[in-house]
Amino acid sequence: MEVEFDQHYLKDNSVITKAIENSFISDKDIILEIGPGEGILTREILKKNPKKLIAIEIDEKHKSHLDNLSQENLEIHFGNALDILPSLHCDKIIANIPYGITEKLYSIILEKKIPLVTLLHGIDFYKNIIQRDTRWKYFVSSLYTVELLEEVPGTSFNPPTKVTSALVTLTIKEDFSAFDIFIQNLFQKRYRSLSNALLFSLVDTLKLSKKEAKAMIKDYDFSPLLLEQKVTQIKNQDVVSIIEQVRSIFK
Ligand code: SAH
Repeated sequence: MEVEFDQHYLKDNSVITKAIENSFISDKDIILEIGPGEGILTREILKKNPKKLIAIEIDEKHKSHLDNLSQENLEIHFGNALDILPSLHCDKIIANIPYGITEKLYSIILEKKIPLVTLLHGIDFYKNIIQRDTRWKYFVSSLYTVELLEEVPGTSFNPPTKVTSALVTLTIKEDFSAFDIFIQNLFQKRYRSLSNALLFSLVDTLKLSKKEAKAMIKDYDFSPLLLEQKVTQIKNQDVVSIIEQVRSIFK
């Protein structure tokens, strides 16, 4: 059961306080929590009196705990957050998430452009978005300013986690550069072939004709095999190299 639902309950109140403080909750906010578990974070979010808190929990064994929290501005859904989240509106996400869904959750967050997100997840994915040359680093930073609030040791959870975690906030940028907009476009088109994703991202971002954008792509001399593949199927190092080459247009 633990493995199936990644259940590691937070037991460090200072981490919860930090997550809440950095989410700047107001009575206008619709907040979403993924995996409330027994409700340790849920309770603290409710104390800040948001307009609404929507909590999505997959495991019905937590129903009795969560029912105890029942109040008018709390809406609890039982089900898989990855299925439910795409059709919900929210202003902010605050969650100690099940680590197994980190990457899929980031995709949904980027698609929905949620203004402020405070997440606790494995440090490895944090390194992906900030240090390592991965597509995630480009995708996330095209939309958000990323801040590491704290590194949280495995012993802060019950049962303890094997890996260290990162408490991270993503704050949507106030201004986007043309390059940011190009990368956001590329992300939205990641299920298309590289050639189409590049073509339409350049057309949209630089307001070019298709003919002009095609000529531009041809000049890069990318391998025809790569151009046929979907962006999601291309290796990180190739995606990064392509992005870095195209970046010169935006300088
Ligand atoms: N937020 C709580 C629990 C964290 S453990 C705390 O900090 O103590 C992760 C929680 O996410 C568990 O309650 C688990 O049942 C739930 N969960 C796992 N996969 C999920 C999914 N796909 N959708 C919604 N909840 C999920």
